[in-house]
Amino acid sequence: MNKEEKKEYNRKWRENNPNYHKEYDRQNRDKITGNRIKKEELNPTSKEKRLNGLKEYKEKWKKQNKEKYKAQNKANNTLLIPKGQLCVVCNERLAEHKHHEDYDKPLEIKFLCVKCHSLTHRGD
Ligand SMILES: [Zn+2]
Ligand SMILES: [Zn+2]
Repeated sequence: MNKEEKKEYNRKWRENNPNYHKEYDRQNRDKITGNRIKKEELNPTSKEKRLNGLKEYKEKWKKQNKEKYKAQNKANNTLLIPKGQLCVVCNERLAEHKHHEDYDKPLEIKFLCVKCHSLTHRGD
């Protein structure tokens, strides 16, 4: 069988067995999830370990990104309110304060006037 013949053969075979791959996938998937469930039943801490692993990973990530955070915070602290910047809420008074919408995003800050800033922190 040459290359072309083989291709043709495969094509025909697939035509005659349209559900083969679907069926195979399904069985395989059951097998994979089944295996994991079995493992967790035998070793109930493995699920916990998996979750703890995630926690550790996050902590590690935090540590590694601490420098980045620091740099960002520094950038934020040295970031000056542009001259003549109006408060983004009332658009009337001059912005004198910088407000963090989200502390996870240290560079995303709002320029607010004193009044609107205190209102922001008081909540609705
Ligand atoms: Zn304002
Ligand atoms: Zn604030």
